[in-house]
Amino acid sequence: MTKTRGIYIHIPFCTGKCFYCDFYSVRATPEVMKEYVAALILETRAAFGRVSEAVTDTVYFGGGTPSLMSPEDIAAILSAVSDGAPYAPEEITLECNPDPNTDFSAYRDAGVNRISMGVQSLNDGVLVSAGRRHTASDALKAVSKACEAFENVSVDLMLGLPGQSVSDVVSDVRTLAPSVKHFSAYMLKLEKGTKLYRFVSDKTVLLPSDDETADMYDACMGEMEKNGIYRYEISNFARDGYASKHNLKYWMRDEYLGLGAAAHGFQDGYRYHNPSSVSRYVSGENFGAGRTVNEYVSLADAKEEAIMLALRTDKGLDTDRFDAEFDADFFSDYRDEIAALASLTERDGSFFRIKRDKMLFESFVAREFMK
Ligand code: SF4
Repeated sequence: MTKTRGIYIHIPFCTGKCFYCDFYSVRATPEVMKEYVAALILETRAAFGRVSEAVTDTVYFGGGTPSLMSPEDIAAILSAVSDGAPYAPEEITLECNPDPNTDFSAYRDAGVNRISMGVQSLNDGVLVSAGRRHTASDALKAVSKACEAFENVSVDLMLGLPGQSVSDVVSDVRTLAPSVKHFSAYMLKLEKGTKLYRFVSDKTVLLPSDDETADMYDACMGEMEKNGIYRYEISNFARDGYASKHNLKYWMRDEYLGLGAAAHGFQDGYRYHNPSSVSRYVSGENFGAGRTVNEYVSLADAKEEAIMLALRTDKGLDTDRFDAEFDADFFSDYRDEIAALASLTERDGSFFRIKRDKMLFESFVAREFMK
């Protein structure tokens, strides 16, 4: 069978910092962005020379805000990707912020075939309290324009933002679902070092309780289902045939090259990451698969990873695949853990999964399998 590979390309530029965000992202001049594209092309060429051969079938431009890059820049990067290794692209995603002035057709012509838009909420007050730089009206116009140019549009929502209610979330899904093929719905994680963390610590901002956020999650999923959009991973929901092929690679522990400053990759049994520094990246110093911090994934760690990642999906762990990959007998080797988790998990043929209504206990379940 031909080996396939995904490529993740990190574009670490944003026009400001959302209050909850702890990702690496910076403001940049057009000149720096040009240098960054040139460095990405160099890294792409170098990386293909250092890793085993595989067919590239998915590309994901994540950020940051990849749509700050011009369609010409995206085309140039894709050209380096397609020149460097066998290329049979099935899914090429561009993340973008909701800007109604975006020329979506130009990105389509550059080779992108899927848009993932960070809408987060359609309540203007909630957007302000999250430090977002768009309005609900911007988002609706941008989604509509994206859907004119692309058949496959995904929208990101956040749950548990300050001032957000269950009815906000239900209304957001009801408004957006008819147009889109896919949602990602992430529950807010309050990260140290962010503005929001400070506001909450100072008690100038109050977050919804964990129970309220869990109610938002359940209501969000219920409303999506009414619209024919079903969960396939704890935070991801799609119409039939529109689950993200690229993101599924992460949960299946398939290989992907990570390119760009702060990008992570998983290649030939190693996990690696590039330095979180645009200036070091554009200077060409110390980057790329096989060159930066490499962490060999031991057999024990690989087994834990495989279980932990697969349990995030609704299908669960394919134990036939697990047994073949690790020369194991899952149901026998983990007999005690499985017995201890009987109220939260279930077996479906050769698959082992978390019960549908217990998915929010995913971290607890995964911990049981860690030594
Ligand atoms: S747009 Fe995304 S990456 Fe940029 S600051 Fe906001 S959350 Fe972070």
